[in-house]
Amino acid sequence: MAITYALTSILSQQFGVIPPGNATAIFAPSGIALAAVYFFGYKIAPGILLGSFLGNNSLYVPDFGTIGFEKFQFIGLVAALAIGIGAAIEASLGYYLLKRFGNIKNPFGQVRSVWVFVLLSALASCLVNATIGSSSLVFGEFAPPAAHGSIWLTWWLGDAAGIIILTPLLITWRRLPKISNDGSLVLESALAFVALMSIGTVAFVGSFPIEYLLIPIVVYIVLRFGLHGATLATFLVSGFAIWGTVNGNSSFVQADVNDSFLFLQAFISTIIFTALTLAAADSERRLAQGELEATNRNLEKRVIERTQELAIAKEDAESASRAKTLFIAQMSHEFRTPLNAVIGYSDILQMGMLGDMNPDQTERIGFIKQNANRLLGLINDTLDISQIEAGKMTLNESRVDVHHFFEEILQGVKSLTAKKQITIKTHYHPNTPERILIDAPKVQQIVVNLVGNAIKFTPQGEITIEVGAHNAQEWFLRVRDTGIGMSSESIQKIFNEYQRVEKDTKNIEGSGLGLSITKRLVEFLNGRVDVQSEIGKGSVFTITLPLHVIEGA
Ligand code: ADP
Repeated sequence: MAITYALTSILSQQFGVIPPGNATAIFAPSGIALAAVYFFGYKIAPGILLGSFLGNNSLYVPDFGTIGFEKFQFIGLVAALAIGIGAAIEASLGYYLLKRFGNIKNPFGQVRSVWVFVLLSALASCLVNATIGSSSLVFGEFAPPAAHGSIWLTWWLGDAAGIIILTPLLITWRRLPKISNDGSLVLESALAFVALMSIGTVAFVGSFPIEYLLIPIVVYIVLRFGLHGATLATFLVSGFAIWGTVNGNSSFVQADVNDSFLFLQAFISTIIFTALTLAAADSERRLAQGELEATNRNLEKRVIERTQELAIAKEDAESASRAKTLFIAQMSHEFRTPLNAVIGYSDILQMGMLGDMNPDQTERIGFIKQNANRLLGLINDTLDISQIEAGKMTLNESRVDVHHFFEEILQGVKSLTAKKQITIKTHYHPNTPERILIDAPKVQQIVVNLVGNAIKFTPQGEITIEVGAHNAQEWFLRVRDTGIGMSSESIQKIFNEYQRVEKDTKNIEGSGLGLSITKRLVEFLNGRVDVQSEIGKGSVFTITLPLHVIEGA
């Protein structure tokens, strides 16, 4: 470290030393020292001190001095030592500030960290060294007090420029970029390099004031080649600009050398600062984009996983449902056989075929039969639902005479009204077709369910079965009652399995399956159910089905 520092320090002093004093306009060792602390830690600081001390040998070895002040060697030793301490502090402080306020792992990967580097690690930490250095020269009488201010300024900006130019370059290029074997990318970088060199030559050899043309080229390089491109391109530009200015070939050259170097430093710092900020912003953007893509991939993976889980769950549920349906179907079937026996034997007993019964016995046998019939109805409903669920329903269409069909149903259900004051009648709209093609057993079950409900939920009054055609494609059957009716909330629920309107139906028998079966049958026949009802006034159930009229006799 000491040797590198000393050599680059002597080299830097070969050009750009602004008299009177040892301050250099672009002091490369500062940048190298900060990078060294970054790589090796604070333990490298003594090396920096020693390197600086050796580099300033002109202060205590007058014979080789470039400045020409005849001084005590002892004072020179002290001044060189102080300057060395300043240099070590500068690099350590710069590193500390970057670590404290920036992103030490990736100092140029974030805009914030770039700003911390330029404002704190370069500009702020160099204030300390400039103050120690310039004061040492003045107190050691190596420079006149009147020049203190200008030496201080040059020292400060020179060190800061050294850091801004070299530290990012060294830190970034410690890891080489991935070399692409993409031919077009190589050609692109070659073209960018040629453009940079051409404009640089015109500006800093030809001394034409077109150095601003370098900016778009640098921006392009930054966006295409990232931080490696940014640091290398700006390093080349800086080299060009320094070389041109030192040789008097740039638009920064002024009558006063100090002014020339101020303009030069401003140009270099601005272009590097811009490039680093842009590179950091671009890298942040890429990172965010990468994260977004990763999140998306992850999300996609999770969706696939969940979909698979769902498919498995669905398969499980379906197989459970199939098992349940099969079980119910078999059980219902098994229940019916003994139940039919109970009903049959009750009939035999009731009819007196096994001897006379007294009225009491006949009545009780009647209860047995009634309850057995209820149970049979319940089992039949359950069987129906399970068969529908199992998808075992088939369409069996046949031609029926509409009047005949409905009158027969009416005869069948009339017995249900026996103990009630209910009149039940049919009404055929004039457009009712005579003969139609329907699945008679299913339509019959629908009508029986609806009329059965109408009778159940009408204490007294009138029930009408209406039949007619909506149009050439659809016919309807409508069951109208003047019973207890339903609220609109109840209507939403009644088609669900086992759903009953509790408070209205407490004393009325039923399973809550009838309408659910009805709806499924209607849907199977490609029809629809509409309900209108008003509490206390009655209900109207309308079934609309596709119309297949049969012409002729
Ligand atoms: P269940 O008649 O066995 O209770 P349903 O599925 O046939 O089962 O009917 C469900 C519910 O719909 C009935 O419990 C009743 O609350 C209501 N409901 C059905 N039809 C009528 C009607 N015509 N008038 C009033 N409420 C009815």
